[in-house]
Formats: sequence, structure tokens, C-alpha cells
Amino acid sequence: MGGWQVISPRNHMVFTPLLASTCVGTLECRAVALSLTDIQPRLKEAWNKYFSADALAIDHDRKVVTCSDGSSEDNFEVAYDKLAIATGSQGSTFGIPGVEERAHFLRDVAHSSAIRKHLIANWNKANLPTVPRAERQRMLHVVIVGGGPTGVEFAGELSNFINKDLMRIDSERARDIRVTIVEGLQLLGNFDARLREYAADKLHKQGVHLVKSMVKEIRENELVLQNGDTVPYGICVWSTGVGPTNFTTSLHFAKTARGRIAVDDQLRVLVHPTEPEQHAPTTPSQVEPHNHEESSNAEFKPLGDIYALGDCSANVEGPLPALAQVAEQQGKYLAKQLNIEARAQKAKDKPPEWVPFKYRHLGSMALVGGSSAVIELGESNKPHLSMTGFKGWLAWRSAYLTRLGNMRNRLYVAFNWTLTFLLGRDVSSW
Ligand SMILES: Cc1cc2nc3c(=O)[nH]c(=O)nc-3n(C[C@H](O)[C@H](O)[C@H](O)COP(=O)(O)OP(=O)(O)OC[C@H]3O[C@@H](n4cnc5c(N)ncnc54)[C@H](O)[C@@H]3O)c2cc1C
Repeated sequence: MGGWQVISPRNHMVFTPLLASTCVGTLECRAVALSLTDIQPRLKEAWNKYFSADALAIDHDRKVVTCSDGSSEDNFEVAYDKLAIATGSQGSTFGIPGVEERAHFLRDVAHSSAIRKHLIANWNKANLPTVPRAERQRMLHVVIVGGGPTGVEFAGELSNFINKDLMRIDSERARDIRVTIVEGLQLLGNFDARLREYAADKLHKQGVHLVKSMVKEIRENELVLQNGDTVPYGICVWSTGVGPTNFTTSLHFAKTARGRIAVDDQLRVLVHPTEPEQHAPTTPSQVEPHNHEESSNAEFKPLGDIYALGDCSANVEGPLPALAQVAEQQGKYLAKQLNIEARAQKAKDKPPEWVPFKYRHLGSMALVGGSSAVIELGESNKPHLSMTGFKGWLAWRSAYLTRLGNMRNRLYVAFNWTLTFLLGRDVSSW
């Protein structure tokens, strides 16, 4: 019996909507890391395999993926009949000096653990008698660059942690902590104006400062803004959007203007009909000379046996946002179509035509701290339902608890929330 193989250096999926909560200990990291075998129990069947490795290259002619586990010189190959690429994206630095070396990204549990460790280390160090006043204030300044849902949720969680838990431990030191969001455009740009204003007001009341500017450089202890002003920081969290990974960039397929793998409406990977090997851009800006609006799939041809889905890919004729709900719907669509095709082949029937993938936007949510959230259900450009405040927060919590997918993680999350509510967050570190 033929099986399928999963290649990924991570043996779990991160439930990113709750990741910001792990930076301050509202949730422990385990609560948001879902093991692959819990998500897909059929991975335990002997004919299906999981390889803990990175895919390095795809040889379309030989139909093999070259992989490496990173610890040995020996690469290995995995043969395929059909290949689905779902390698995600990475935090974009836009080439701004210092971001890679000095800022924290917030995309994985390793990132949130590092942020939590850094926060507690600075909180402890700031209390030493050897630390001068100005240095203490710098250490206790947390700057978040990017006012999208991730930046806003982290700021909301952090201010709640300061006001609820750190104030109880040492109110004088807690009052010295500052949280600033630096955003060049507007906070929660994808939400409608009323929700944006609500979120800004709520954050302001919780002591979060908003600075409207672009960051030009991150130096060792200070940010340099576009207008030349400098902002001293102790911790900087960078959350300004996503771009392609090195793996995506290295692939010889057609790409969108933002460097994502170009796919058609059946998620088939596209190549140039005469020069497939010409599509190996080294940076997103080199990918296509024209933008999305001017692009069309007509100039490319689909490969019949390689698909791409999630953050790493987009249809140039209507690119979708890098969201879990897009990736999830695409995953279900692709599995369904491949199963229909396989059943037809087994029955020796003519495989039916694939229906095109259609995305249904369910809505957007963001926690804005304390017991408050903003929620927009449905498409923002059509009549939709919105909620703010405590009602929004209850809906936010219920939605994510039910979407968590397996009982183990639901219990972890419910238990962590209860513990935080009853006893506050834990500030021990090792
Ligand atoms: C903090 C945060 C909050 C978010 N909140 C929301 C939200 O509220 N709602 C929402 O809809 N979306 C949200 N998102 C976006 C959402 O997480 C992504 O859109 C979604 O995870 C994309 O899924 P994916 O499968 O394409 O990629 P990922 O989930 O990133 O998975 C990619 C996988 O590929 C593996 N991989 C990478 N390179 C290779 C390689 N070369 N070989 C093999 N494996 C590889 C990675 O290890 C990873 O396991 C959030 C993102 C972040 C960071």
C-alpha cells in the first residue's frame, strides 16, 4: 500500500494565534505546540513516514526531494509521486540593519521562550544596586516594531502582565517598565476604523505608548527612527510582516512579486513554459518586474504533480493573506482533490476535473489586553459583525479553545488560563 511522507524539522505545529500569550506566561509553550501525530493520527501507520529534516532542493525531473537533518553530512532523498510544498514564511527584516542580530521575532515557541527569558532577566537585573537609573529605564523599555495583530496582542499581554502580576511583586520597578509600539502606518490596519480606534484607546489606557514612525536601524541599545530620533530599548520585538524563506527563494519555480511560489487556482505550482530553470530569484525584489495587479497566470504553465499552499505560495491573480485560515482551507481542499483523483484512478475511471480553490474569510480577531479583544466576523468589505471589549474577549477565547484541534492542547490551555486567573503568572526563570 502506498503511503505519504512528511518532511519537517519541527515535529509539531505551533498554534500561532495564542503564541503571544506564551511570552509572558499566560500560557506555557506546550499549550500551543501540537504534536504532528495528534493532528494527523494516520502518521502512526507503518506505511506513512515522518522525517525530522529540512528539504534542501527539489529535483522535478527525478521526482525527489533532497533533505538534511542538519546534524550530519549525509543528505538523503525522498521520492514522490505528488509533492505539496507548505514550508511557510519568515519574519521580514526589509534589509533594515540590526534587525536580524538584535531584535526578537515572534513566530515560534523558541522565539516566545527567548522573549520571556529576556524579559525576566531584565526585570531581575534592573533591580541590582550597581545599575544606574538611566540604564534601569532602558532595560525596562520594551519596544514592539509593527502594530499588526501580533504586535498588538503581545503589547496587550505584556501590559496586563505588568499591571496584574509585576505590580504585585514590586510596584516601584513595575512602574518603571515602558511598552512602546512603533508603527509607520496605522495600528491593526486590516480592521475597520471603529475597531482600530477602540484598540488604540484600550492600549493607551493600559500604559502602552504609540509612536508613528518607521524604524531605520537597530543599534545595540537604541532604535533609530526615520526622522533621526533615537529610542533606547532593553528588548525589541520585530513584527512587521512576512517574506519568503531561503528555501522558497531557492526554488526554480515562478514567483509572485513578493517572492511567494506562484500557483494557479488548483494550487499547482507554475513554471515558465520555455525556461523553467530561469525562475530562481535570490531576493523577493528580483522575482517579477511587475506587480500583482498586472500579473496573470496565462504566461506560466502548471506542473501537474507539485502543489504549494499556505504562506509560501500565492495565486498572482488574487494573492491571499498569510493566514492560518488560508493555509488550513487550502490543506483541506488539496487533500480532498487528491483523494477524489486517487479513488478514480483505483477504479480505473477518468479522473474528474478539479474544482478551483475558493477561500472563505471567517474574520479577524486581536486581543488588546486584559479581558478585551476586537473581533470582525466575515469579510471586512461586506456587511459583517464586529465585537469589542469583554464580549469580544469571551468570543476570542471560546473560538481559539474550540479551534485548537485536540483534547490535550485544549486541556493545557484551559488549565493555564485558570491558573493565571487564580494565582497570576509565574516569573521564575532558569
Ligand atoms: C504570532 C503569530 C500570530 C498569528 N495569528 C494568526 C491568527 O490569529 N489567525 C490566522 O489566520 N493566522 C495567524 N498567523 C499566521 C499563521 O500562523 C500562518 O499563516 C500559518 O501558520 C501558515 O501556515 P503554513 O502551513 O503555511 O506555514 P507554517 O505554519 O509556518 O508551517 C511551515 C512548516 O514548514 C516547516 N519548514 C520550513 N522550511 C522547511 C524546509 N525547508 N523543509 C521542511 N520543512 C520546512 C516549518 O518548520 C514549519 O513546520 C499568525 C502568525 C504568527 C507568527
